[in-house]
Amino acid sequence: MTHVVAERVGPDGLADRVVAAMRLHGSPSYPRAFEVWYAHLSGEMPALSANLLQVVVEAEGKVEGAALDRLYDRFIRTDQIVDQAERTSGQILHELTTLTEAITASLDASERHHRELCEISEQGPSSPERTKLHAWVETLVLSTRAEVARKAKLETRLRDSAREIRVLREALATTRLEAQTDTLTGLANRRHFEERLQTYVAQVAKSGLPLTLIMADIDFFKRFNDEHGHLTGDQVLRLVARTMTDKFPKTAVITRFGGEEFAIILPDTPLSGGWDCAEAVRQTLLARELIKRSTNESLGRVTLSLGVAAHRPGDTPETLTDRADHALLMAKRKGRNRTETQDALPQSPVVDG
Ligand code: GH3
Ligand code: MG
Ligand code: MG
Repeated sequence: MTHVVAERVGPDGLADRVVAAMRLHGSPSYPRAFEVWYAHLSGEMPALSANLLQVVVEAEGKVEGAALDRLYDRFIRTDQIVDQAERTSGQILHELTTLTEAITASLDASERHHRELCEISEQGPSSPERTKLHAWVETLVLSTRAEVARKAKLETRLRDSAREIRVLREALATTRLEAQTDTLTGLANRRHFEERLQTYVAQVAKSGLPLTLIMADIDFFKRFNDEHGHLTGDQVLRLVARTMTDKFPKTAVITRFGGEEFAIILPDTPLSGGWDCAEAVRQTLLARELIKRSTNESLGRVTLSLGVAAHRPGDTPETLTDRADHALLMAKRKGRNRTETQDALPQSPVVDG
């Protein structure tokens, strides 16, 4: 306080006049009293001056310290508090605004943000509070910037990873499809057949829903190959595959079991339904006379022998496949170009279930 007053004592001798006035009115001379008289004589606080004159009149020549204290509290200290509050809140508001702007900007562009940070930190602090605020803002802005950079890096990494994962998944899906597909006919292969049959047998063991399996084999195919060539034989395999795809329901799992043999899983289908499907394929093929395009030569007709078996309680994929195979064998024995079911087997394997 003394320091502030000393600062205000100018060459105009204001301080001397203050001391003289205090003496004149019998005022106590402690610092707060000095400030009241000083404020009055500086002419800067007319409200205080009016009140002090009133005190002087009422005091009848001797001003009490208590009266001066009341004036000090009412005018000087209040003003100081208000000034201080205004200054402090103004600073804080300014810093917060700058900070908010900096944070907002940082979310858009970390580079621009960095420049703002530099500007903020270069503003010369004028008080200890300001210095602290600057340090605080700087720390926040720095950490925000680091956060933005980290986020950007993370986003890039995540995007890269997602892209890599997508590529790998596509490659994996292609590989899996290739591994399950027979390249000649485009049907699923034996590996896929075994996987799916295992799944279906496990499911129907719980659900009790019907499940039928067909094994089909082209009749006298060796002879066909011998007479017309292997490439023409390949065309026949494709034709059989297409016919099966056309005739079997969409839910059927049609597979090339190997060579000129096919295995078809029919979910939700009883033995009779399986027999119908098998016959539809056989009849369709039988109805087509094959003509060699290049020579217009007749290749005759392709016939199929088929065996049908329906899932029984206790069946494993192997026992079910065995029965369908035995039914197919039965069809071959009975003269080929026909469908037989497990019911035709002399002694159907009895499985406890
Ligand atoms: P069956 O009526 O008893 O089934 O007689 P088949 O001649 O059909 O049976 P066999 O098992 O004696 O001969 C099967 C033939 O199938 C032998 C092979 O030349 C032929 N074959 C197997 N795979 C292919 C293939 O991918 N392409 C061609 N063109 N022929 C194949
Ligand atoms: Mg055959
Ligand atoms: Mg065969």
